[in-house]
Amino acid sequence: MWTVYNWLNKVWPWFKRVIPPKYHESARALARHLVSFLSAGSGFECPICKGRFRELWPWGRTNELVQCPGCASQDRERAIYLFMKKRTNIFNDNLKVLHLAPEWSLSLVLKNLPNLDYVSADLAKPFAMEKIDITRIPHPDSSFHAVICCHVLEHIPDDRKAMSEMLRVLRPGGWALITVPVRDADTTYEDPTITSRQGKLKAFGEGSHVRWYGRDFKEHLAASCFLVDVVRFGEVFTEHEARIHALITRDDMYVCSKKTEDQESQQNESTDCTNRKTEDLSTDDTDSHR
Ligand SMILES: [Zn+2]
Repeated sequence: MWTVYNWLNKVWPWFKRVIPPKYHESARALARHLVSFLSAGSGFECPICKGRFRELWPWGRTNELVQCPGCASQDRERAIYLFMKKRTNIFNDNLKVLHLAPEWSLSLVLKNLPNLDYVSADLAKPFAMEKIDITRIPHPDSSFHAVICCHVLEHIPDDRKAMSEMLRVLRPGGWALITVPVRDADTTYEDPTITSRQGKLKAFGEGSHVRWYGRDFKEHLAASCFLVDVVRFGEVFTEHEARIHALITRDDMYVCSKKTEDQESQQNESTDCTNRKTEDLSTDDTDSHR
């Protein structure tokens, strides 16, 4: 199997040059599909593509064995998928959903759900339906019932503006699922003077990250006027589910919601939030991040 996998990785750069960027992920998915039977078996069951395999494939810089041979989902994506199944109404209710920086495997499933009016968006991923900057989302206020934004904010220099934009496009009572990498520290670390890829890798754990959030990330979201509930993935799944689906359990999901009008009027700090939103939205910032 590894011979085939390594060969695929070797020829992929050549294919990438001759295939239009929009079809890169589809082409990779097709190639994966054609050879994934070599890993077929038992031991791992993917909740997203429903494939059954005896082994997982390596992924990322560290070559960790977390990738589903069938749909290329990672442990985190499978955890998000099952979290949505267990804790949200996304598979049942008629919702308008904005999926920022979409994960290929999740976007395929959500795009095909008949109950969703689904929009995927990214500044760089060619397969996303819309090309947008998260700090200037080109949709009207209160457009969406739900927003999904996983492992994105750590890349955004003006993350406060991104949070404010997500809140703005949510309907009152709507929800946002947000994840970020969190270091084992109380406070978030950022230093805008670190600009080189090597410097960011050393300081923030990845060459494209601009900060490393601490346990105060919840307060960052609350300061942007979200109601926030922090849920550890490990609390949502049984040990059997975590093992058979190869799920990440140590990360947290930040389940955010936009206050309803009643909640807004009952909260003392609502004035602060209203003022902040107005201030943020009136900023004429033409920089494009992400
Ligand atoms: Zn899969």
